[in-house]
Amino acid sequence: MSDTRELFEVRDWDAAGRIGRLDVPRAGVTVETPALLPVVNPHIQTIPPRELAEEFGAEILITNSYVLHGSEDLREDVLERGLHALLDFPGAIMTDSGSFQLAEYGEIDVTNEEILEFQRRIGSDVATPVDLPTPPGVSRERAEEELGTTQRRLEDAAAFDADEMLVSAPVQGSTYPDLRERAGRHAARVGLDVFPVGAVVPLMNEYRFGEVVDVVAAAKRGLGPAAPVHLFGAGHPMMFALAVAMGCDLFDSAAYAIYARDGRYLTVRGTEHLADLDYFPCACPVCVEHTPEEIRESDERERLLSEHNLHVTFREIRTIKGAIRDGELLELVEARARGHPAMLDGYRALLEHANQLERTDPASKGTFFYLSGESARRPEVRRHHDRLARLSPPETVLLTEDGWSEGDGGDGEIGDGAYDAHDERWSIVPPFGPVPPELAETYPLSAEVPERTDDRAYEAAATGVARLVEANPGTEWTLAHRAWPDSALARVPGRVEVARLGSSGAVEGGDAE
Ligand SMILES: [Zn+2]
Repeated sequence: MSDTRELFEVRDWDAAGRIGRLDVPRAGVTVETPALLPVVNPHIQTIPPRELAEEFGAEILITNSYVLHGSEDLREDVLERGLHALLDFPGAIMTDSGSFQLAEYGEIDVTNEEILEFQRRIGSDVATPVDLPTPPGVSRERAEEELGTTQRRLEDAAAFDADEMLVSAPVQGSTYPDLRERAGRHAARVGLDVFPVGAVVPLMNEYRFGEVVDVVAAAKRGLGPAAPVHLFGAGHPMMFALAVAMGCDLFDSAAYAIYARDGRYLTVRGTEHLADLDYFPCACPVCVEHTPEEIRESDERERLLSEHNLHVTFREIRTIKGAIRDGELLELVEARARGHPAMLDGYRALLEHANQLERTDPASKGTFFYLSGESARRPEVRRHHDRLARLSPPETVLLTEDGWSEGDGGDGEIGDGAYDAHDERWSIVPPFGPVPPELAETYPLSAEVPERTDDRAYEAAATGVARLVEANPGTEWTLAHRAWPDSALARVPGRVEVARLGSSGAVEGGDAE
C-alpha cells in the first residue's frame, strides 16, 4: 500500500478520460491505462495467460483468490509456487476476494483478514478485501448499512500489513448517487490504492448504461481525479469508450470467454450470435482465416471465438487511447452511441455531467466535430458559454452568421449600413454562439459543423448569445442570423435587434418577432 499520487500518473486527458501509468511495485511493472484485465479462471484456461501477454499484449490480468483458497488441487500448489508461476504470467496479477461469491450465495468461508493474508502469501500484486457488493435498486436502509460494513472492511484492509502489494478499495452504495459519492470520498481517504466501482454488473447486463454513468459520475465526485478507477465486471467493448470518458481506467473481462462458450461474438456495436453470422465484420487473425461456417463446425469453436472476442476488446482499448491522444474521445463515444439505443442513453447521461467532465477536459484539442444534437451539450460548448459571460465587448456589436468578411468590403451586399454601424463584428458559430475575432481560429471554435445542421445547434448558439448579452448590459447588440428556428430565437434576449440574412448574405430588414 503506497501513496496513489506516486503510483498513478496521468499523461493525457480528454473529457474525464485519460491515458495514465499505474505502477505495480510488487510485479515490477508499469501498466498503461486504460487497461483491460482478462479474467482467468485458475481451473479452466481457455487461452493460457502467457498467450494473453504475448499474443494480445495483456499487461495485467485478474483471477479469483477465493477460488484458489477453496481449491483442493490448487491451494497448496499456489502457496508453494506463487501465483505468477502457477499461471505462468509475466505481467501484474490482481486478485478478487470472494465478494462476488458472497453476493451470489450469501456466505463465504473466509474472513476479510484471512483472504487478504492469503492474497499476500500467494504473491498477488493487487489484492481486494471482502466488500459487500450491494445490487442496484435495493432500499436505502440496506444500501447504507452494507456500505457501513464495506467501509469498515476497507479500514481493516488499510491497517493490514500488505508490504508492496497494492490493495483495492471497492466503492459501493447501490444506485444512490449521494452514497456512491460518500463511499468514493471515504475510499480515497482511507489510504488504499486502486478504486473499483462495484456492483454495476446487473446494470450492464440489462443495458442500463445511463445508470452506470450516473453511478460512476457519483463515485468519481467522491474519489477525485487523481484516483485510478476500475469498473468492476465491465468487459463488453461496446461501452469502454463511454466508461473511459467518464473517468474509468481499468476494465476486467470475463465476457471474452463466457460469451464464447455459448456462441456469442463481441463487436463494438453489441453482441452477435455466431449462428446468425454470414460474414465476420472484423479483421482479426481469427476472422480473416475463418468463415463463420467453419467456426460453427470447428472443435475449436470456443477457443477461436474467445480469441476474436479478446482481439476486438484489446483493439477497442487501443482505439480509445488513440482517440484520447488526438483529442477525439467524445467523437468516438458519439460514434459508439450510434450502435445501440442504450448506448445513446448512456451518452446522453454522460452529457448531463458536462460540468464534471469540463474540469479535466483540455482547453485545446484537435478539431471539434459537430455530429448530432448531442454535440451541442458537450463540455466544450458549456465552457465557451461560461467564457462569453467574462468577455468585455465594445459599445455596439453585430453578431452575424455571415462569417468572416471584416475589412474586405468586397461584397456589395455586406457593405450596406447594418455592418458599418457597429464597432465590431463577431461571427456566430453554432453550437457555440458568438465568437470574438481574436478567438476564431482557436479550439473549439474552429469546429467542423455540417451545412444542414439541426435546431439544437442553433438553440445552443442562442444560449451563448443570451449569456453574452446578459453579462454586458452596456452594449447594443444586433444579431444577423440565417433562418434560425423559433426555438432558438426565443432564447435571444428581447433587447437584441434581430435581422435575418438573405441567401446572398444581405441583411433583410425587420426582426424575427
Ligand atoms: Zn475477429
